[in-house]
Amino acid sequence: MGAGCSRAVPDEAPTMTAIVNAGSSSGTRLPTFADVATARERIAGIAHRTPVLTSRFADARTGATLHFKCENLQRAGAFKFRGACNAIAALPEDARRRGVMAYSSGNHAQAIALASRIENVPATILMPADAPAMKVAATRGYGADVITYDRYSEDREALANTVATDRGLTLIPPYDHRDIIAGQGTAAAELFAETGPLDILLVCLGGGGLLAGSALAASELSPGCRVIGVEPEAGDDGRQSLAKGEVVRIDVPRSIADGALTTHLGDLTFPIIRDRVDSIVTVPDAALVDAMRFFAERMKMVVEPTGCLAAAAAFTGAVPCEGQRVGVIVSGGNVDVASYARFLAD
Ligand SMILES: *Cc1c(COP(=O)(O)O)cnc(C)c1O
Repeated sequence: MGAGCSRAVPDEAPTMTAIVNAGSSSGTRLPTFADVATARERIAGIAHRTPVLTSRFADARTGATLHFKCENLQRAGAFKFRGACNAIAALPEDARRRGVMAYSSGNHAQAIALASRIENVPATILMPADAPAMKVAATRGYGADVITYDRYSEDREALANTVATDRGLTLIPPYDHRDIIAGQGTAAAELFAETGPLDILLVCLGGGGLLAGSALAASELSPGCRVIGVEPEAGDDGRQSLAKGEVVRIDVPRSIADGALTTHLGDLTFPIIRDRVDSIVTVPDAALVDAMRFFAERMKMVVEPTGCLAAAAAFTGAVPCEGQRVGVIVSGGNVDVASYARFLAD
């Protein structure tokens, strides 16, 4: 049927058949802005067009004008739904019938699980055994088959490849895939459509799908905007990679930013980031807690630690923002309430 994610909201979704058939499921070519534009059409009416909010308190604190793109309010709680929906909508019919597989510490898993359910595609998800309980439960709740592994001793990519090959599933990686990167870029594209050109765009950085996609959007929609990646201090492989001009691998970092515990950028995300991203900065975990409290107290929003990376770069001065028009991607809001309460109470 190839009707894409449109079954989710039959009354308002566009027909996606033509767009779906135009795309190949191969993710190895570098994505371009045209892929972001295609993704926007594919996911329109399926992914939420999330609000862009402002805060006078935040502006006073930074001396800037901050525009928060609230992907914590996205379906499945993070921007990952954009890429997942785009990648699944692009799959050919035979691959859809066999099913998809994903490995993820959480948000990509939930996104693939939800997009698969909407698409009626079977999903198998490989998750770390110590992933937040809420994320595992949500993934299972969307109907996916969840299998677990030990993130400190097992190679998840190798394991996922083996399982996918054995079961004939299409592996959809969390960031290093053309349709994923293009889908993630739609958040920044929507932001620019709403705010017009910006001086700075702050984007959290794990494997680089969101940052690469955002950079593609900025190049076209806000040329001259400085795109800056923000990593947890404990896991600055992106910063090291940009400095060295090649992908640098680190040990699994330990940070409360559980959505950014990647060890290296991807073969696709790195060249885009190298060519289009101005710089990469880091923030300590304490600054994430501080930003989490700001979002709760001032903006009445639950934002997960990883989702606070970009805002924390503005608040700490890691990126000087005074006098600038700044886009801040608030990437997700999935944090279980017990941990959230502990973060806020500390
Ligand atoms: C996945 C994720 C990130 C990092 O995205 P990458 O595309 O891997 O760089 C940041 N924040 C949240 C909430 C995430 O789920």
